[in-house]
Amino acid sequence: MTSSKKEQSWKKRVFQDKWENLYFFTEVKDKIQCCICQQTIAVPKEYNVRRHNDTIHREKYDGFTGKIREEKVQQLKAAFAKQRHFFSGINKSSVNSVRASFVISEMIAKSLRPFTEGLFVKECLMKASEILCPDRKKVSEGISLSANTVACRITDLADNMQKQLIQISKDFEAFSIALDESTDVSDTAQCAVFIRGWIANLNITEEIART
Ligand SMILES: [Zn+2]
Repeated sequence: MTSSKKEQSWKKRVFQDKWENLYFFTEVKDKIQCCICQQTIAVPKEYNVRRHNDTIHREKYDGFTGKIREEKVQQLKAAFAKQRHFFSGINKSSVNSVRASFVISEMIAKSLRPFTEGLFVKECLMKASEILCPDRKKVSEGISLSANTVACRITDLADNMQKQLIQISKDFEAFSIALDESTDVSDTAQCAVFIRGWIANLNITEEIART
């Protein structure tokens, strides 16, 4: 057993259900947490849990006794769980917003549109949300698509693609490279490098390595 697993099982063994009603404490995952102020106790000993309650909450919560105290504990626990659920929802939606920002930036890059197109796409998304799902308009608002963000996303994607290509190319049995010269919108000459290679199981990889 690893030391962290040992520590976790020790913590689990240590928490006693009676601490809920006695000190308003609950166990969340492997943490022992106060239902009132949500502070966690680093060393989960009864002495520490009791001291937290005595010094911070006792005066206000000692009036709750018997059945009323049990109900208060359940009420605090439910409110606490609801809050945790709310925050985990926010985290999930912010991850999805970043993901959407990457996907749209990639589409902008692949269609050779300027980075500033991101703002126009966002305006379109927000207008469409207003009509289709007004209660979820905030979701589209959360997608960052400013010109700077789009530029950063595209740089990140290009770096990642380069790393992947270097990794894959180590296994190439054979490859070919094609070069082409073109000019961009500002009339600056650009060299495009296409690479095509295959690995032992005949999987073919084709990428623009550089422009
Ligand atoms: Zn507390």
